[in-house]
Amino acid sequence: MKIVVLKFGGTSVGSIKKIKNVAKIIKAYHKKRYKLIVVSSAMSGVTNELVKKSKDISDNFSSSEYDVLVSSGEQVACSLIAARLIHIGLKSRSWLSWQIPIMTEGYHKNSKINLINKNKILNYLKKGGIPIVTGFQGINENERITTIGRGGSDASAIMLAKFFKAERCVIYTDVEGVYTTDPNKLKKAKKIKIISYEEMLEMASLGAKVMQPVSIQDARLNRIDIEVKSSFIKKSGTLITKRKNITKNKIITGLSSTQNDAKVTLVGVKDKPGVAAMIFKPLSKNLINVDMVVQNISANGKETDLTFTIKREDLSKTKKIISENKNINYRRLLFDKNVSKVSIIGVGMVATPGVTFRMFQALASQKINIQVISTSEIKISVLISSKNVKKALITLHKEFKLER
Ligand code: ADP
Ligand code: ASP
Ligand code: MG
Repeated sequence: MKIVVLKFGGTSVGSIKKIKNVAKIIKAYHKKRYKLIVVSSAMSGVTNELVKKSKDISDNFSSSEYDVLVSSGEQVACSLIAARLIHIGLKSRSWLSWQIPIMTEGYHKNSKINLINKNKILNYLKKGGIPIVTGFQGINENERITTIGRGGSDASAIMLAKFFKAERCVIYTDVEGVYTTDPNKLKKAKKIKIISYEEMLEMASLGAKVMQPVSIQDARLNRIDIEVKSSFIKKSGTLITKRKNITKNKIITGLSSTQNDAKVTLVGVKDKPGVAAMIFKPLSKNLINVDMVVQNISANGKETDLTFTIKREDLSKTKKIISENKNINYRRLLFDKNVSKVSIIGVGMVATPGVTFRMFQALASQKINIQVISTSEIKISVLISSKNVKKALITLHKEFKLER
């Protein structure tokens, strides 16, 4: 059976008109005699509204009820798509995750799909039906509804492609593919024809919302090629695939930026073994993700300054945890909410010397101050003032000749 998984993001099902258009795309595949498994996200904005409602009810909203609440948008979108397909003469129905079931493991709000039962869907496909499956949600072994992290419908699609051994997995969205940087932030951004899992994973983790990082990791582990394309314009998109399939690499493939970081500095921390662990342990216990870390070399051998970044939404919790931590001594605690991370990503940098220098010089030429730096084999990230992000993207895009 030649199975194709089609995933439609919130932006593609954001209105009745758009849902009618999605039905046309599905019908076109159906005519080509593919067996289709369709995955849909909630209509755009709906999940955010539900998250806001949870916050209005309680700042400590039960995480299992949170999953029931925020996964409901997908049910609406799937039923609208299925009903439209029925309207245009096709056999279709919605499938909620628990009806299949799509099993997950791990914590509420951030579960992971670990098993998908194939029987019912395969039977339905054999009868000529087009299943419209809710993305983002699953159920756990206690039969409670779970969700798999924001933007998680991408991972739902990849895992369906894995379990059903799909021939293709197509992610339909509101842009034509993966670009050198967010095309809604930089007009000169260029569509990338083909990109490796590794680079896409870095780009996504560092702020490129177009694909959810977990989904790329799943695709990489299971060697599933992903096609990202527009649901509005009929044009070829981007292929995300293994490095081996890519013959030509630029030095830098793309740029990413974040907009929701915060910087915390502890001034005058006692410089002795174990202090950093004392600071970070309670943060990790509270599920606060620490990202970039720098510790200055102690000038007098007694005290040092420690700086790290977190998500802006975790700032007040972090402030509280650090001020109440009796195990650490410091002179002052400083915070900055207006920082962003800008990153350059590319496997090409492995074999090319001087990339770091070029990045720093380009930023310096625009008088952009670098506050923190972190690197991996295929990426360099810098923390800068949020007001300079646009300027940094323009200058780095030009420096690494990405518009060509
Ligand atoms: P969907 O609703 O289809 O899941 P998302 O809003 O999650 O769509 O992702 C698409 C958005 O990702 C685009 O509108 C674009 O603004 C943003 N984006 C960020 N970085 C990139 C990039 N490098 N290439 C393409 N889009 C990007
Ligand atoms: N609707 C969910 C969200 O907004 C899942 C997704 O869009 O993929 O996070
Ligand atoms: Mg998305």
